[in-house]
Amino acid sequence: MDVTALKSERVRIALRPKMQEIARRVQLIREQDIGMMGGLWQRAEQSFRKNGVGIYFVKDAAEARRVVGKLVGTGPVVKSKTNVGREIGIVEFLRGRGVKVTDTDCGDFLVDMMKQKAVHPVTPALDLDLKKVAEKLKCKGDGKSIKEAVRKKLESEFGKAKVGIIGANFVSADGAVMLIENEGNIGKVLGMKKLVVVTSLEKIVGSHQEGLECLLAQSRFATNRVGKFIHIIGGPSGTGDLGEYQQGMHGAEEMHIVVVDNGRSELLKDEGKRDILKCINCGLCVLACPVFPNVGLEQSGMRGVVIESEAVGDEKLKEVWKCTGCGLCARICPAGIDLRGIAVVVRKKLVEHGHQTEGNQVMMKSIGESGDTLGKKAGGVGEDEGRKGGGADFTYCC
Ligand code: SF4
Ligand code: SF4
Repeated sequence: MDVTALKSERVRIALRPKMQEIARRVQLIREQDIGMMGGLWQRAEQSFRKNGVGIYFVKDAAEARRVVGKLVGTGPVVKSKTNVGREIGIVEFLRGRGVKVTDTDCGDFLVDMMKQKAVHPVTPALDLDLKKVAEKLKCKGDGKSIKEAVRKKLESEFGKAKVGIIGANFVSADGAVMLIENEGNIGKVLGMKKLVVVTSLEKIVGSHQEGLECLLAQSRFATNRVGKFIHIIGGPSGTGDLGEYQQGMHGAEEMHIVVVDNGRSELLKDEGKRDILKCINCGLCVLACPVFPNVGLEQSGMRGVVIESEAVGDEKLKEVWKCTGCGLCARICPAGIDLRGIAVVVRKKLVEHGHQTEGNQVMMKSIGESGDTLGKKAGGVGEDEGRKGGGADFTYCC
């Protein structure tokens, strides 16, 4: 796959007038819903409970793992994509307890099989070497043969699993988990007897209608087309054909939703960073960014750095120094999030807390001592002699 061509095509399409129209609508919905997050979750909770769904609001990743672990029991588990699940490390946790977990999204399955890291929230296997993948699967190296080999492996796992774990693109305050997909694996996971949804606070939308608009937009900006299947799940399956209503027919008999905070309530209070909660997780900013994918940084780029840093602290936040401030992410984000502006806010906070890059510290010291970014002994910007003379490793605008 020519990843560079794919990137520029997606960026070009995202800037078309029709797409910008869709983006403006998303921005309105997300702005409004993030502002009413608490009230919307109260409504959602009432609707879910009425439909026999268990709902658990958890503070952090550790509590989320504990709750999901209890719900899952001994498994075995088939799971579809959940970026919140990835954030809390649910697969590693369950496997650590001896529970068999199989990723059923093709990309996630391959990334897991190859013991690699996902490079993108929507297309995690974007940079896998398909030749190596085929060797591992003992099949031919073309896409069709790999797909068939993956399908065969997954069929047998679906047959054995007792629990399904899914994420949510959005959760409607009217009481529904909303998802969009192409592969059909989510549909199969929904057929497990017990269903556990792992999601987070900012996924809430005011209604099914708003959720649908955001789903379609997410799909368009993420993949340049509308996904083939949309799921709106209000509760466990059941039948009213046998006199008294019987819960659990062809779909789940039990359904639980774990809503993860993990720093999001704090983000909501932070004027400089709260906009990040409007994200619809299309991954376009990661695809377009000239820096984050190239330095092997985690799959959700600047957005992930800011969200996860609220939970794991300044160590994670230091990644923002890698941003060049080019602003492309802010230009194309359908949710209108100024990621570059947020990076500036985060950098200021880091400096206030005494965190600077080593290079920056050297440069500031040099300026203080000699008025020159490269120090007294430096010959000039870019000259190797300057570096040998003890000046800064590199320079950039601070
Ligand atoms: S920050 Fe914007 S571009 Fe990036 S994933 Fe979220 S909605 Fe998409
Ligand atoms: S502003 Fe930073 S995060 Fe955004 S695209 Fe440019 S380098 Fe990437």
